Amino acid sequence: MTQQPLNNNKAIVVFSGGQDSTTCLFWAKKHFDEVALVTFEYGQRHDTEIQVAKQIAQEQAVEHHLLDMSLLSQLTPNALTQHDMDINEGDSGMPNTFVPARNLLFLSFAGALAYQTNTKHIITGVCETDFSGYPDCRDSFIKSMNVTLSLSMDKDFVIHTPLMWLDKKQTWALSDELGVLEYVRKRTLTCYNGIIGEGCGECPACKLRARGLNAYLEEKGAN
Ligand SMILES: [Zn+2]
Repeated sequence: MTQQPLNNNKAIVVFSGGQDSTTCLFWAKKHFDEVALVTFEYGQRHDTEIQVAKQIAQEQAVEHHLLDMSLLSQLTPNALTQHDMDINEGDSGMPNTFVPARNLLFLSFAGALAYQTNTKHIITGVCETDFSGYPDCRDSFIKSMNVTLSLSMDKDFVIHTPLMWLDKKQTWALSDELGVLEYVRKRTLTCYNGIIGEGCGECPACKLRARGLNAYLEEKGAN
């Protein structure tokens, strides 16, 4: 059996419409000719998330795949999927937004999509310096997943994680470097309360985002 090599100029970005994955979208556009997005629907707290993702895809004129992952809500009695629960840290110290194996599943499906579209590069905004500490967002997991995906389909995929070692301040710096700081600031959704851009200012996601942005703007202003 002769294998057709994957297209080295094509990339798929795992995309939520948030700050991190939108920064990854622009990073991908800089490095690859043909960029597509994949967004997973799994009963997000706000449908706004999906709308924002669609909107950004449209504005940036990139192909957008929406995949139904609603089965996740059957597995995870937590704040992201059960709308009447509060988001806070559980006893384990893990935020109760934790969905076991979510990123493993997302990357598996992104890989299957990459295969079907003959795409070599898969980009994800996971980050080890993030506050969340999800085990399937760590660098060691991503490297293992890269090997697994490639073996499972007998294709040489490459998973890229441009944000892996960045903190929030450095992620803002990257978006500035890519010339899209204002776009990311105004058009993306991070807020747990579903408010686009600067958000509600009160939820943990907003606080983390604002802290990073302020630190970056301060540093920039000082130079
Ligand atoms: Zn918020």
